[in-house]
Amino acid sequence: MRILVLSDLHSNGTALDAALAAAQGRWDRAVCLGDVVGYGPDPNEAVAKIRELGAATIRGNHDKAVCDLVSVDDFNPAARAAVDWTRARLTPENLDYLRALPQGPLETEGLVLVHGAFHDEDEYVFTPSQALESLLDSSGLITFFGHTHHQGGFCFHDSQLEVLALRPRDKESLAALRIEPARRYLLNPGSIGQPRDADPRAGFAIADLAHGVIEFFRVPYDIAAVQARMRASGLPEALAQRLAFGR
Ligand code: ZN
Repeated sequence: MRILVLSDLHSNGTALDAALAAAQGRWDRAVCLGDVVGYGPDPNEAVAKIRELGAATIRGNHDKAVCDLVSVDDFNPAARAAVDWTRARLTPENLDYLRALPQGPLETEGLVLVHGAFHDEDEYVFTPSQALESLLDSSGLITFFGHTHHQGGFCFHDSQLEVLALRPRDKESLAALRIEPARRYLLNPGSIGQPRDADPRAGFAIADLAHGVIEFFRVPYDIAAVQARMRASGLPEALAQRLAFGR
């Protein structure tokens, strides 16, 4: 069973299509770590695609915000504007879908899925000290998280916490991680729709647990086309610009 792991799609239909084209034939079942919507110009397309894939999906903070499940007080002005823009455009059916998304952690197909940290779906995990609790407390050996939009991860074994560099180099499209027994992993597949780790290409992962390999991908997509749709629809200019920098 090969599992396609998607996260932080953020209403970017073009990036999602490019990722799915690159992943075609390489996976059997899809999962999604949340933030299907927010920021980008294609909220209904992103929700429709996730539903079509039958992906086991947990909610992210943006999914909650568009459904009024959480206040947007913590959101910056551009993110807040995108939440309002998205809420006004989602079909009632797609809003219902997002509202019903479960909160992580979700155990499925031998993986544990969380949006932020293991104990707090809204907490960012950037550093080893932030990762430690999730590594130790997760109910499974392999936990996938999103929220930071940084592809990479952490590994814990023999009381040692190791930072894993999993991002494919600029000219390469994938980096492979070999899973070692008796180690605990906390892994971020990267963001499809708004990468922030200085590589603007869409990020995702494919986990093949039977063979003990997880591959991390980066796929180029037509960023200018997405920016043009964002500008035409009145989304904040800063959100369009950052796509090109992967920041
Ligand atoms: Zn996000």
